[in-house]
Amino acid sequence: MRIGIRARITLTFLALVGLGILSTGAYTILVLRRNITEQALRRLHQEAAWVLVESPRWDPESIRQWARSLSLQLDRRITIAVSGQVLVDVYRRAELQEGGVFEAPEVRALREGLSAHSRREEPGWGPMIYVALRARDQDRIVRIGMPERELFVLVQQMRWVIYSGMLFSLLLTALASWIVSNRVTEPIRQIARGARTIAEGDLAHRIVVRQRTELGDLAEDVNRMAERLRSQIQELRRLAQLQNEFLGNVSHEVKNPLFALQGYVEALASETLSEEQRREFARRALRNVERLNRLFSDLIEISRLEYREDVLHRELFDLQELVREVVETILPRAQAKGLELHYDNPPTLVYADRLRMQQVLVNLIENAVAYTDAGHIWVRLLRRGERVIVEVEDTGRGIAPEHLPRIFDRFYRVDKARSRREGGTGLGLSIVKKIVEAHGSRVEVWSRPGQGSRFWFALPTRPEAEEGQG
Ligand code: ADP
Repeated sequence: MRIGIRARITLTFLALVGLGILSTGAYTILVLRRNITEQALRRLHQEAAWVLVESPRWDPESIRQWARSLSLQLDRRITIAVSGQVLVDVYRRAELQEGGVFEAPEVRALREGLSAHSRREEPGWGPMIYVALRARDQDRIVRIGMPERELFVLVQQMRWVIYSGMLFSLLLTALASWIVSNRVTEPIRQIARGARTIAEGDLAHRIVVRQRTELGDLAEDVNRMAERLRSQIQELRRLAQLQNEFLGNVSHEVKNPLFALQGYVEALASETLSEEQRREFARRALRNVERLNRLFSDLIEISRLEYREDVLHRELFDLQELVREVVETILPRAQAKGLELHYDNPPTLVYADRLRMQQVLVNLIENAVAYTDAGHIWVRLLRRGERVIVEVEDTGRGIAPEHLPRIFDRFYRVDKARSRREGGTGLGLSIVKKIVEAHGSRVEVWSRPGQGSRFWFALPTRPEAEEGQG
């Protein structure tokens, strides 16, 4: 059987107080009995002394008479012995003839002293107490006895008063300790109930304990724990959902080029194709293979950035040199569209991962070329104290405000058809974002439909200044 904390406290309290009450009661009765016995012995002693002095010196018969009436008056056993002979031993009209007086302990003890007392069981009378005295100069002994029970009649009565008082205070203690332990353990029970509710899955449940004690703190801690758990579970659910969406997107993105590829390859197998058609289909099939290739490279890149922490290999290098390298590979496409690409910057040292920065620049500049029909593209490196702002700006079609917050999401495209035509995978900007964030920075964008777009982020110029963003 399980005993709850409330019952435990009550029982402990009750046991302690009960022990206290019992021992006090027992001690009181003990002291009382001792005092009364002492008092009685003193009185018997006085009486015996009086008898010793006052007992007449006449003939034995007169002494017996005198002792008998005195025994009745005082209700005492009175024994008088002279010269080793018992003159009288009387109690309640009973004349006691048998000997044994000189064997009684209190009388035997008189050989050593002038007074002695004892307590013993007497058949028929119960416990008796005796005081015996011996006269100093005479050979005379007086013993006075009385039943002990008479002494304790009062104590007996008082004992019941004490017992009932003890019982009453025990009941009172039980009630008080129940109330107190109830109040003390209420918050504990609240916390236990709340924790159980939370453990059963209701993570939104809150424990309310209005007590500014450790228990209040405990309730708060449990609440905080539940809240954290809840947000973590929510985050996990969100991630699982994102993962699902991502998988759906991936299979969708893969299916299209794969079908196209299948179509072109099947067509190529036909005997009736002209040389011209065959070349065209082969070209188209190749374009789809390239698209798949790009898609998988981007996917691998994303998962690498997502799941590995040691993806960055930073070094100090001249970013302008990298800009020139990247622009030179894209320049033919820009020139084919009649775009002017400006990328003249002074040598600019940055502390970053060169290969990743190449990916970022390729993605941003390719986008600028892809989504700009006429005008200019600028690639700027602007020194700002310990940082360099990298900026790619175009005079292209721009992005409507409602799309802006989502362009960094995976597979998000404003104009799907155009993106596909330009060979985009919809993953470019999300890769850019991840790489820049891995550098401790953030990509910003400004864009207005019809006017153009500007993407920028900051990079540190040396290892110490890599945190934060300008
Ligand atoms: P994509 O492979 O489709 O280019 P990105 O992730 O690189 O994918 O870009 C997401 C979308 O953001 C693009 O589909 C395009 O609609 C828009 N976008 C990106 N860069 C520009 C830009 N410089 N001008 C206008 N729109 C842009």
